[in-house]
Amino acid sequence: MTIALGARTCPTGKRRYDSYCEARAVLRKAKRRRSPGPMCPVRFYRCSVCEGWHLSSTKERKAE
Ligand SMILES: [Zn+2]
Repeated sequence: MTIALGARTCPTGKRRYDSYCEARAVLRKAKRRRSPGPMCPVRFYRCSVCEGWHLSSTKERKAE
């Protein structure tokens, strides 16, 4: 499974962030807004598919 680095999109369809720093900044901003709701991102993680970063609104999901 090889995907060109620098791809703007991820096959999962999630919003992709290029770097740890960017994902962290976006998550921090979202938390500060404290917008309640299920879509509020609570964590970010490294994606093994696109090698970018994604935010997740779920605490932990094994099957995704
Ligand atoms: Zn991805």
